[in-house]
Amino acid sequence: MTDNSLQAADTGSLETLVSKQQQFFRTGATRSVAFRKEQLLNLRNATLRLEADILAALTQDLNKSEQEAYATEIGIVLSEIRLALRKVRRWSKPIKVRTPITHVGSSSRIFPEPLGTTLIMGPWNYPVQLLLVPVVAAIAAGNTMVLKPSELAPATSSLLARLIRETFPEEYAAVVEGGLDTSTELLRQPFDHIFFTGSPPVGKVVMEAAAKKLIPVTLELGGKSPCIVHKDANIELAARRIVFGKLTNAGQTCVAPDYLLVHREVKAKLLNQMIKVIEQFYGNEPIQDPDYGKIVNERHFRRLLAYLDDDVRIAYGGQVDEAGCKLAPTLLEGVTLESKVMQEEIFGPILPVMEYDHIDEVLATVRIHSKPLALYVFSENTGFQKEIVENLAFGGGCINDTIIHLATPYLPFGGVGTSGIGSYHGEFGFRAFSHYKGILKQSSRFDIPFRYPKSKWGLRIIRKILR
Ligand code: NAD
Repeated sequence: MTDNSLQAADTGSLETLVSKQQQFFRTGATRSVAFRKEQLLNLRNATLRLEADILAALTQDLNKSEQEAYATEIGIVLSEIRLALRKVRRWSKPIKVRTPITHVGSSSRIFPEPLGTTLIMGPWNYPVQLLLVPVVAAIAAGNTMVLKPSELAPATSSLLARLIRETFPEEYAAVVEGGLDTSTELLRQPFDHIFFTGSPPVGKVVMEAAAKKLIPVTLELGGKSPCIVHKDANIELAARRIVFGKLTNAGQTCVAPDYLLVHREVKAKLLNQMIKVIEQFYGNEPIQDPDYGKIVNERHFRRLLAYLDDDVRIAYGGQVDEAGCKLAPTLLEGVTLESKVMQEEIFGPILPVMEYDHIDEVLATVRIHSKPLALYVFSENTGFQKEIVENLAFGGGCINDTIIHLATPYLPFGGVGTSGIGSYHGEFGFRAFSHYKGILKQSSRFDIPFRYPKSKWGLRIIRKILR
């Protein structure tokens, strides 16, 4: 294996890269469990060795504090590697299954097979874990991979290119950096699978390009994730957990509570409590707090400010630091379903608050939007929790908490409808990067003829068996 990497995005070099990976995959080198474990260990060691550089890059791109960056990026990658190292042998073992009586003499097994050469495209908001967690799954499942980090987090993109270059040969794993031209060129290549994390509009572009070659996709997208607070909720706890989920990474989290639906009787209490918590976490002037995240760039900053110009009332916050691209935690009231802020995913530290009297209003409001990536419900009543969880379609979520369902490798993480196709994390990631090949092995010691043409008693027997 040679050691180099790729920065240029021209067609020739991408074709060569993909072809090298395909050839390497065909040698069968990636398939043994020993090889997969060795690469998982290499990835873990590289992540640990470059930890300080990763933290610095995340501060540069998004002003992430060390604690937040470790908990939401590096820690999640390490926890996925840990589980994969422990379980990869079991996950990749053939699975013996039953065979119907009509197939007498045969046995059946399902072989989890690597898909081949895969493309993994990541967004800018959690630029480390949203690229490397799929990499863990792709390695565990025995694939080769081309990675495309987001150009909107340039320091992290370049650091990830270095990490992968210093850890793996390019015929096994390589980073290709760049913007639209690079992505477009990558999407023309004959990959065996595309794993994309990003916005629903770009998800459509990816799926359309993949459809031209019938390349299967996993799409990890977004949406407007509601947070419902019922009148019987523990309000102090709810306030803390909602503020945490909303303000982590300054609201630029795919599963952040997008809007609040709070029972009219507890609305004032919840808002007061949330304001207290915001000030506990980030002080009276959050935009001055060095641990409070920044908006990724000027375009997104302006997009967020436009929500505040609409016909809504700022109940709290609204301060900006233009030079630092920072927007204070902002609570909005007087919001209707027609307000601009309720038309698309917010992806920033603005939380519209709407109230309800009856659960039917909650169901109707959530159903107006496309199926969200996440949903949160705060209530002490299991009947209410059940009604919400069972009657609404959403990717996944929490009861009495926010966002932390993303940080466990034991739950599938993914959307439904426009919030995504497929899921990953832990074994679900292994499955996303595997094909389950079903093989029936028939005995050659005898050959019962009842399935063959003109067998006099064959049809009678089959009818009897299947009755
Ligand atoms: P994005 O869709 O703009 O970009 C994602 C990737 O696609 C980047 O690598 C980018 O370079 C590339 N890209 C952008 N435009 C492209 C085009 N026209 N053709 C081909 N490739 C293109 O997403 P983003 O702004 O980086 O991230 C924010 C979005 O991602 C939000 O909608 C959020 O909800 C979603 N998201 C989802 C998850 C999840 O796990 N489901 C996680 C994080 C973010």
